[in-house]
Amino acid sequence: MKINQNFLNVQDSYLFSTIAKKVDEFIKANPDKKSNIIKLGIGDVTLPLCDAVIKAMHMAVDEMSNKDSFKGYGPEQGYGFLKDNLVSYYKRRNVELQSGEIFISDGAKSDLGNILDIFDVNNTVLVTDPVYPVYVDTNIMAGRKIVYADANENNGFLPLPDYKVKSDIIYLCSPNNPTGAVYDKKGLKCWVDYALKNNAVILFDAAYEYFVDDNNLPKSIYEIDGAKNCAIEFCSFSKTAGFTGTRCGYTIVPFELVFDGVKLNKLWNRRQTTKFNGVPYIVQKGAAAVFTEAGEAQIKKNIEIYKENAKIIADGLDELGIWYTGGKNSPYIFLKCPKNMKSWEFFDYLLENVNVVGTPGSGFGKNGEGFFRLTAFGDRLKTIEAVKRIKNLLK
Ligand code: PLP
Repeated sequence: MKINQNFLNVQDSYLFSTIAKKVDEFIKANPDKKSNIIKLGIGDVTLPLCDAVIKAMHMAVDEMSNKDSFKGYGPEQGYGFLKDNLVSYYKRRNVELQSGEIFISDGAKSDLGNILDIFDVNNTVLVTDPVYPVYVDTNIMAGRKIVYADANENNGFLPLPDYKVKSDIIYLCSPNNPTGAVYDKKGLKCWVDYALKNNAVILFDAAYEYFVDDNNLPKSIYEIDGAKNCAIEFCSFSKTAGFTGTRCGYTIVPFELVFDGVKLNKLWNRRQTTKFNGVPYIVQKGAAAVFTEAGEAQIKKNIEIYKENAKIIADGLDELGIWYTGGKNSPYIFLKCPKNMKSWEFFDYLLENVNVVGTPGSGFGKNGEGFFRLTAFGDRLKTIEAVKRIKNLLK
């Protein structure tokens, strides 16, 4: 028996463990400061599930207790009631989908990794840098070659395709984690054109689409002509409706996507029906409630709270004259560390002087060096206090 040697090439993920270690050490040395620490580093939501979701899940639990309404194994691709809601959700945004193109998942992260099952190992993968680490690590585990598209201050952290670079699988994330940058339609069209010309597939991560409120910015790659012939879209209820612990997402594989004469939808369906048992009925009932009138109003209210947090942070940085991306149409703010500090240097500076914790940009790739990520998912009063402290420190 031999192990998959590729796993030895995956770097240990030091980012969040190093942050936790540094915070622990700081508290040990300064126990009186423990309660003063404000964490704006996490990418997890802090508001609970909304009422409509909770009610729907309670009702689903009751259905499970009754012989007539009890559910055993469900369809691996997801229940029709949730997929129909998604078809309507996209239709309202002028994107026509068919129910069979939607696969309900236990979250975007799983599917972003699992989708690689249906692609040849010799494909070259393109990721932007800095990047959500899952795209890189899952491909290293599979032994694929990775090329990077540099995202930096010059291109507003929104790189465009370089036709000199050949790639077969392209990961795009918009609104982006960690940079908060959002592609406009023109930018996404450049990538769609590149993919169509190079017979490449785009894996479009729309986990943060719900934060986009500028109607000129695309929430889905299918708003771009030609995308259904080259792109798979991944989305999630995690950030939209607070499902990070409840687990539900979805992946769209259009029927038009054909490579080597084979429909990717067919391959993915085969993969899912073989290796995945579907998302629990109770959870899918909760997710479906997000699209009711009450559910939509309630999740919008939560998103508004996060968006206002983002604005509070962005306004503070504007006052200080600090360069950043995101903050609008995104829960992330990616700022340029002041005084030419490196990412970890700025991390220590903020922790020691104002007891605020963020995430060093260098943890997301080489182009993140010198940058720093703050998130809008924190508590309102703590966000206001953190910005006040940062302003006092840096003004
Ligand atoms: N994609 C991006 C860009 C993310 O930042 C995250 C989570 O932070 C995910 C996907 C994972 O989403 P899910 O909770 O649906 O697995």
